[in-house]
Amino acid sequence: MIDTDALPQVRRVLTAIPGPKSAEMLKRRTEATSGGLGMAFPVIVEKAHDAILLDIDGNQIIDLGSGIGVTNVGNSAPRVVERVLKQVREFTHTNFTTAPYENYIEVCEWLNKNTPGTFAKKSLLVNSGAEAVENAIKIARHFTKRQAVVVFEHAYHGRTNLTMALTAKNMPYKEGFGPFAPEIYRMPLPYPYRYEGDVANITSESLEHVTHKIEKEIGAKNVAAILIEPIIGEGGFIVPPKGFLPGLQKFANENGILFIADEVQSGFARTGHLFACEEEGVVPDLVTTAKGIGGGLPLAAVTGRADVMDSSHISGLGGTYGGNPLACAAALGVFETIEEDGLVARAQAIGEILSTRLNEIKSKYSVIGEVRGRGAMQAIELIKPGTKDPNPEAMAKVIKYCQQNGVLILTAGTYANVIRFLPPLVITDELLRDALDVLEAGFATL
Ligand SMILES: *Cc1c(COP(=O)(O)O)cnc(C)c1O
Repeated sequence: MIDTDALPQVRRVLTAIPGPKSAEMLKRRTEATSGGLGMAFPVIVEKAHDAILLDIDGNQIIDLGSGIGVTNVGNSAPRVVERVLKQVREFTHTNFTTAPYENYIEVCEWLNKNTPGTFAKKSLLVNSGAEAVENAIKIARHFTKRQAVVVFEHAYHGRTNLTMALTAKNMPYKEGFGPFAPEIYRMPLPYPYRYEGDVANITSESLEHVTHKIEKEIGAKNVAAILIEPIIGEGGFIVPPKGFLPGLQKFANENGILFIADEVQSGFARTGHLFACEEEGVVPDLVTTAKGIGGGLPLAAVTGRADVMDSSHISGLGGTYGGNPLACAAALGVFETIEEDGLVARAQAIGEILSTRLNEIKSKYSVIGEVRGRGAMQAIELIKPGTKDPNPEAMAKVIKYCQQNGVLILTAGTYANVIRFLPPLVITDELLRDALDVLEAGFATL
């Protein structure tokens, strides 16, 4: 196997963050790049391997974000690098709908075999999560000859025009960017921590509420698809209560509605299953994937029932770069790494370490209202002690402390008060423990 010139997997903070060289280059960033772009961690990266980012000042930062759930197999994972290097020498692009090639087909075969459901499946490859979701909706509308799409509170499905409409949160995703696409209907999402009714009945009450609204406000026969993230990502790692997803799937099946699971963030071993739907045996008609699929190269997919995926006319689907051969080579390296290195089990082990430690920290610091998640997709929600009022100020302070001490942690949540953990699944126990020590020290400064 190729030597990827690996970085030692240790944290090392030599300068303030950002250091002088990064600070200088960040001025060029401000000059040259759109002001509409955010920045979670203010350094310039020189190199990254597995769970360590090296910046141009020589700092080694622990990556607990994986580039937003992308580098599940680690940054520049050896099998990904090896396959991409081989492919880039052979050919870089033909366009699959001009002259096809094998690795696109292989990626689709793997997805067809490994996504939930044993029925005949087919796939389509595209470039981004948003594009996958757009295509899933196109396909669902074409197949059902219906137009309405049901989505949920706290949802995030992307930033293109259709996916902005599907996404719940106005600021920063939608503000000033309308008009939005029509025939999108948003339903209440059961948010166990913030549920106002009796939590013992959350699943039955929520299902009844949602199905009643669909029947009375839209008409079930007008609905093409119900689209949901099996664990809500950007919205704050909200885990729907047990039984909710199977109940929705049943309602969809009974009413000729396609059930689409958006596994863009929760897929590829992240939650301790290959796909998060597996936890409750949910079998969607269509699954959208992206992020973790390409190990950092841009790739996304729609996979699902062969009859649905075949329903559109020839050339109704496609695009210039979708399923680019370099991205497909990377994906094959990702699949091989997940399987051969046992990353599904590794995500469960990381989940144990994370949830145990986060619960310990919660017992000491009353600003933590809840620890939740599954596998290596965990989060903590920060509140004002003694209430459930969101505490974005405390979150900002803890994140800042972690930054200064060389730990990259991402935030999330409709109320900007959730700290989310998405470490690469190849992170060592030592590195993860070191990062959690820094996090705890951050809480101690509040
Ligand atoms: C990130 C994300 C998307 C959008 O993916 P992009 O590749 O950024 O377009 C869609 N759905 C979910 C659940 C996501 O987390």
